[in-house]
Amino acid sequence: MICNRCLLYLERGLDKKTRTLLYAYRDKEEPSIRALVAHSGLSQYHVREALMTLRGAGLVWGDYFYTLSPNGQRLIELLSTADRPEPSESLCNDCLREIAELLPNDVYPILAELTRKHYRTTQQLVAALNVSSYKLREYAFLLRGAGLIRVDRNRIYRLTGTGRYLGLMLQQQPVAVPA
Ligand SMILES: [Zn+2]
Repeated sequence: MICNRCLLYLERGLDKKTRTLLYAYRDKEEPSIRALVAHSGLSQYHVREALMTLRGAGLVWGDYFYTLSPNGQRLIELLSTADRPEPSESLCNDCLREIAELLPNDVYPILAELTRKHYRTTQQLVAALNVSSYKLREYAFLLRGAGLIRVDRNRIYRLTGTGRYLGLMLQQQPVAVPA
């Protein structure tokens, strides 16, 4: 369970489109993709990108990643509460571990590569990790939602402070990630 302060921290890190999508859940816990498109005013393409980001933050889950997880439901409730706590400054260790365990195994090589090399272009990551640029883009949304990487306009990938911390932690003691 992600703690309330870390949920609010994750929400603050979301980009505008993803936040718009999250707010489209306010009235309904399990809308269809079509309903999300209608409620958010985003294109289906942007809805899918935003859902990947929310999945990275552990807020949605399920086969097609558009059902709010218990964490996501609690965040929606928190956002409609007037006296909610201040967001945390960064993810606490327990929440960071939970977020890391929710990520698919495929994203770990990206974290490891960025821990070693500090920054990489799309082409460098595609070449080093033998992954398609389509998949890399998908993983980047997950990792951004988790607050672990930044990707700038020139498609340069870097770890955030939290990502660097997790990367170093994993080098020392790999997380037992469920398959
Ligand atoms: Zn926490």
